[in-house]
This record gives sequence, structure tokens and C-alpha cells, in this order.
Amino acid sequence: MTDRPIAHRTRELLAAHGIRLKKSLGQNFLTDMHVLDKIVRAVDMSDRAGVLEIGPGIGALTERLAERAQKVVAVELDDRLVPVLRELFKSRPNVEIIHGDALKVDLQAIVQSSFEGVDEVHVAANLPYYVTSPILVRLLEERLGLKRIVIMIQKEVADRLTARPGTKDYGSLSVLVRYFAEAEEVARVPAHVFVPRPQVDSAVVKLTLRERPAVAVVNEPLFFRVVRAAFAQRRKTLSNTLHSALLSSREKREVEDWLKQAGIDPKRRGETLDLEEFAAITEVLDHAGITAER
Ligand code: SAM
Repeated sequence: MTDRPIAHRTRELLAAHGIRLKKSLGQNFLTDMHVLDKIVRAVDMSDRAGVLEIGPGIGALTERLAERAQKVVAVELDDRLVPVLRELFKSRPNVEIIHGDALKVDLQAIVQSSFEGVDEVHVAANLPYYVTSPILVRLLEERLGLKRIVIMIQKEVADRLTARPGTKDYGSLSVLVRYFAEAEEVARVPAHVFVPRPQVDSAVVKLTLRERPAVAVVNEPLFFRVVRAAFAQRRKTLSNTLHSALLSSREKREVEDWLKQAGIDPKRRGETLDLEEFAAITEVLDHAGITAER
């Protein structure tokens, strides 16, 4: 390894290996050391931390993480990059490169087998934009025992993750994130620090995982079905959208009664509800024998 950071050698490394970046894989690589350091600082890791990186690319962030962490495990889908990464990090025994799809690999198994001896596990990633939401949903729903998730994502998605009820960005992803974590935007990042330059600006968001969910729910799968149904048709009233997206086999009047029992005006719109209100609806529906399956 030379003394020059990978971030500053991105173009020459790609050229040396004849790699042309693929838009279809969301390949926009970070070249700015300040931004990389902001991500690493936001992870705020202990000396014995493990970090799971999704999509290491050519390894710019991986390199910075490996200087701080006890162990870095990086999952990369592109088979052209995997041998290059293994070569770049061959003198760093604390870096493990896994060739795989972050949507399909067994994350539980990776966290359990690759992070032996670490005292906390974090995720850090400049996520491929085309799969930001499904990857984030996996990281949250699979209860991997993570402490923090620090991700670079499209600015518009960052706004959704941190949105509060009653705002235009508030949606099912905002509820999911708030249920599992506290979200904070730590930086806005202009498009020009990436190679190649993406169409949109980005943001770094830090999610600090809660020890237990923000609200107690009686039936978690039903809770998330209710949330998704509530946002399915944003311009409809809550009773209409719940009726058509979740409870179409029941009478409309029944749906309205259940909402009233939960203390919620059926004419409200889903986007005005907070977590406690979604939990209250879930409790009434669960009590009425409604299940998450349709
Ligand atoms: N971490 C690097 C950086 O910051 O410069 C690269 C980030 S780039 C936005 C996203 C990376 O994720 C690419 O290297 C791409 O090949 C990889 N990728 C895309 N889809 C993936 C998937 N489903 N699983 C794992 N990696 C994926």
C-alpha cells in the first residue's frame, strides 16, 4: 500500500484494473477525505469495535474504518472489485472482504462469526442509492445487535428518515426508523465529491439503535402492515386507506369504529399519526382478531 489514501487514487486504481463504473450498481465513489472522516467520526467507535461496511467500492471508506476499528467486514456485490479490494487490503489482517449481495447474504451469520472479540458492532456505508431502503429495512428489522448505523444516502431519502408527523417527507420509512433508532443528519454532501458525480446531493445520517423499540406494540408484523397501509394512499382519509389497503373484507363502518376505539378520528390522514397512535390502532385491530396476513 502506498502512503496516498485510496480516496485520492480512485481514478488511477480503476484505470489500472480496467474497471468502468456501473450506474446500475449505484457506483459513485467518495473521494473527499473530510467526508470520509465525518462518517468515521459519526460512528464514534470504541477501540475494539467491529464495523460492517456495505458496498466498499474501491475501498476508500474501508481504509479509513480499518485505521480505527478492530475489525472491518465489507460486503461487495461487484465481482470485478472484490479481487482488487483483497489485493489492496492484503497487508491489513483486520479487513475481511465478502463477495455477496447485501440483500441476500446472511447478515446474522456474518455478525456472529466475523466479529469475535469486538465489544460493539456498527454499520458504516456509502450505500448504493438504488437499494437504500431495502438494505436499511434489513439492517433494522433483523435485530443484528448493532449500536450505530452511519450511512451516506440521497438527500431526499435522508429527509424521509428524519421526518416528523405532519410533514410531506413523513412516511412508513420514517416510522420504521423511529421505531428502532434515533436518527440524526450529520452532514450534507455535495455531488461533486463523488466519482462519477451523481445527479443529486447526499447526506450522512447517523442512526443510534434503541435498546428497545420506541413504542410497545402487541403485534409487530400487524403494526408494520397498519403503517404501510396508512401511507398507501396519502390523499385518502385514514379509514379509507386502511379499508382499501388492509381491511377490504370488512365493513367500512367497522374500520371507522376501530379507529374511534383507538382514540383516532377516522377522517385524519395517515401522515399525521405518530408511533403511539399507530400502536393504539394495532392494539384494537389485534384485539378484533385482525392478523398481518391478508
Ligand atoms: N464505499 C465506496 C465509497 O464510498 O466510495 C463505494 C460506494 S458506492 C455508492 C456503492 C457500492 O455498493 C458499489 O461499490 C457497488 O458495487 C456496491 N453495491 C451495489 N449493490 C450492492 C449490493 N446489493 N450488495 C453489496 N454491494 C452492493
